[in-house]
Amino acid sequence: MSEQKQPQQPQQKKKKVSPQVWKFYKVSGAELTRLKKECPRCGKGFFLAEHRDRLTCGNCGYSSFKSK
Ligand SMILES: [Zn+2]
Repeated sequence: MSEQKQPQQPQQKKKKVSPQVWKFYKVSGAELTRLKKECPRCGKGFFLAEHRDRLTCGNCGYSSFKSK
């Protein structure tokens, strides 16, 4: 078995992080409050996008309809 090591590529894909993720948190004093709901499927770090009548997860497609 001989595994060839691939040379490091200069163009490594960076982990895609939304630049607007800070909007999902609200910091008041020392407390951090989440403004958005997290996806029940994907877990922490995956927030549901808010639509007029529903919340959706862009990662897995989960959608939750708002109830009054
Ligand atoms: Zn999800």
